[in-house]
Amino acid sequence: MTGSPHPLPLAALHASHAGCWMRERDSEGSTRAIGKGDAVMAVADTPLLILNAPLLATRLGYPDLSGLDLLELFAFVHPARFVVPTPKGLAHALNLDEPDSDDAVPALLQQAAAHLLAHCENSKWAEREGAWSALQALARLRWPWAGPLADRIARPERAERWLFAKLPEWEDAAETAQPRQITLEDGEVLDRLSALTGPNAESRPGQKAYAAEAAHAFSPRSKRGQPHVLLAQAGTGIGKTLGYLAPASLWSEKSGGTVWVSTYTKALQRQLRAESHRAWPERRADGSQPVVVRKGRENYLCLLNLEDALQGGFAGRAAVLAQLVARWAAYSRDGDMIGGDLPGWLGTLFRQRGITALTDRRGECVYAGCPHYKKCFIERSVRTSAQADLVIGNHALVMVNAARSRDVAQRPTRIVFDEGHHIFQAADSTFAAALSGSETIELRRWVIGPERNSRGRRRGLSARLADIASYDETGGEAIAEACEAAGALPGDGWLQRLVENMPSGPLEELLGAVRALVYARDESGGQDAGYGLETEAAQLEGPFIELAGGAQAALAALRQPLMRLGIRLEAMLEEPPDWLDRQGRARIEGARHALAWRIDLIAAWESLLERLGGPADPDFVDWLAVERSDAREFDIGIQRRWLDPMKPFAKTVLEPAHGVVMTSATLKDGHGVEQADWDKAILDSGAGHIDADLRLSDHASPFDYARQSEVLIVTDVKKGDIPSLAAAYARLIEATGGGALGLFTAIRRLRAVHGRIADRLARAGLPLYAQHVDPIDTGTLVDIFRDDPHASLLGTDALRDGVDVPGHSLRLVVMEQVPWARPSILHRARRVAGGGSAYDDTIIRARLAQAFGRLIRGADDFGHFVVLSAAFPSRLLSAFPPGTPVRRLTLDEALQHVSGTVSGSSQPHANHV
Ligand code: SF4
Repeated sequence: MTGSPHPLPLAALHASHAGCWMRERDSEGSTRAIGKGDAVMAVADTPLLILNAPLLATRLGYPDLSGLDLLELFAFVHPARFVVPTPKGLAHALNLDEPDSDDAVPALLQQAAAHLLAHCENSKWAEREGAWSALQALARLRWPWAGPLADRIARPERAERWLFAKLPEWEDAAETAQPRQITLEDGEVLDRLSALTGPNAESRPGQKAYAAEAAHAFSPRSKRGQPHVLLAQAGTGIGKTLGYLAPASLWSEKSGGTVWVSTYTKALQRQLRAESHRAWPERRADGSQPVVVRKGRENYLCLLNLEDALQGGFAGRAAVLAQLVARWAAYSRDGDMIGGDLPGWLGTLFRQRGITALTDRRGECVYAGCPHYKKCFIERSVRTSAQADLVIGNHALVMVNAARSRDVAQRPTRIVFDEGHHIFQAADSTFAAALSGSETIELRRWVIGPERNSRGRRRGLSARLADIASYDETGGEAIAEACEAAGALPGDGWLQRLVENMPSGPLEELLGAVRALVYARDESGGQDAGYGLETEAAQLEGPFIELAGGAQAALAALRQPLMRLGIRLEAMLEEPPDWLDRQGRARIEGARHALAWRIDLIAAWESLLERLGGPADPDFVDWLAVERSDAREFDIGIQRRWLDPMKPFAKTVLEPAHGVVMTSATLKDGHGVEQADWDKAILDSGAGHIDADLRLSDHASPFDYARQSEVLIVTDVKKGDIPSLAAAYARLIEATGGGALGLFTAIRRLRAVHGRIADRLARAGLPLYAQHVDPIDTGTLVDIFRDDPHASLLGTDALRDGVDVPGHSLRLVVMEQVPWARPSILHRARRVAGGGSAYDDTIIRARLAQAFGRLIRGADDFGHFVVLSAAFPSRLLSAFPPGTPVRRLTLDEALQHVSGTVSGSSQPHANHV
């Protein structure tokens, strides 16, 4: 521990599943265990030092808990700095001694508070600028930390630069020329690879072969519409990241072009950003960035929204959040609020809605009409990526960009899809259409503006295009007509009106009929369980079709003036009127783009409605749905998915590209028959829908799965017996001393198991965290899990392959049962098209392979993969890497196998029965 200031004279409270501990303000006093009731009384009585108020509230069962939360203080003192939001994480971040037990935590909180407050008096405080001004605003908002901070932060001698003055402006750069057409030679690719891996790296033949294969995707195209497509199965541990970065960096250097690497998870984006430094410097000599992480605009802070929030648009706790976000924005690397350097836990402390309201989710950007346009994080990210050698994006963004990028020159042409097994899923949602209450009310607000009583700067079309509305007659009329027509869309309170059977307007009437029909016909069993409900869009009766016709006409009446407005805007750009200045022109360009995709959206809804009464289109699956969470309805609508979403993907992404690599450890089916295994990968790539120049390559993992892992199928935990299931989880976690990832297919069972075992494990010093239980975002949960080798984590789908935790922190994966696909209407349609049970098996094998893939991330990792299901079919065992030992045994036998597994120091077979 560093020389630390005296602990703060404030009482501190800590609660875990094992109990509650309180330490009085007098630092000489001792920490005592107290009951939950006393803890609730204490925290309601006076502001106490606490860590992570929402989590504490869950532990105490006292929802409106508040206090002096150390995380808020940390966010103020060290904005944009990473900390795992646990006592241990806080101790690490502040270089204090880690608490070795729950009862040591309150003292740590006192020390940490004192440390952070003292830091504000330190002349070396890196994030001082802006703190005094922010504190004045926070004091007016009665932020609990404002008092303790007041004497610590001296008023600066000169006025501080306000955030909007401090941020740098982006510069427009000249358009880049098209890339040179070059072919990469094997020798130079391998030289580049060894330069990236470094002189002391061990020789990895698999990685070399992989890099040489990946280089082919960068060769010149022979025919328009015929991209090089490489499907590369890369077993875990091959080193595929540097394997493709070697040819990618070489190609971009020699050709002057940009390569996009697309991922599905944020974890891989982070890893790629780190690995790319081997190939590119942080900045070029001219100060520009060769590597840029690019996300959808809804991820970034909108400075105009922030300014509005700071100036009264937000009230109460949300206003405190806005001040902390402003502190962060001044120090952020790129303004990315979702998965960037804004702590994921900040949204949970203040409610995620506040974060969302500060981004540009609803396409209300006014572009050059915005006073912060030249400093805008989003605009900067668009511009830097146009000049970058490497753009790190995600699957959805690559697809959206290919489909509707503002600038054709910015559409990716050389793309590496890492985590390629997720492309299908990303395409499925990108190319879906949903005519629902929440979608249509968004459109209404975009056209008309917000309704009464809403705070904030949100404006409708006529305010955003005020100059056109007043100076241009045709444009002005089109705007007025669109606003009038948008009145037919659902408005505030639509869901309540539907529930009360009092719909207003043609769209609400249709949605009311959708709701009634879904409740009449749903036979999924979800009604009692509280899940979402659905029914096929089939056998619809006359009155329903009539309502659909009315809704369709209302949508057409909105689309027409929007189209006229679009044409008028085009004309203005071609022949600008006198009153149109440069800013106005940029604003019109932005508006034209935003209009175009909304017109497409409305047209897609109209065509969805038009087909309802007629014969089904074999390319699509349509159904009616009531979306619910814990039996609470939150959306109602008509859903449309492509039966095969790789069809539109192939046309919009693959066909215009020159070279595409799709790679993953689980691209192929684990069927065990070589060609059949590739068939699935080819089908899922979309390459079969176009005239692609297709290449397949397979690179086996270098790991010794027979030595490093074991699959245990437990045969004596009865299906549906929650007490037995919970006991099995608890005993397995106790046997490994934590380090377990528990995967569930149903949230209900996850919660039931967690509720039964969390206290028992906590008392043994084995913290158990859970998605859908703890009020912590998934990324932070994984950070907590990674940080503590005694912790275990329970979760559902997102954890099955979004977790990259090498080493000892993850040594056991437990699946509660075979991960069958949910028998939805969409699944049934694809199952029929995909060959029945063979299709199901393919899905399950992929899920098993992905879950198993969490276990062994390095050559020194050891671990067990346990499935608590006697009904595990043998035909699915080929999902696991060849050579992995598989045993069917009782729970007692399994416990003997798993106990004593320590990655890096022993191996799992030490305790064979
Ligand atoms: S340019 Fe658009 S996104 Fe950027 S700050 Fe202004 S309104 Fe927000």
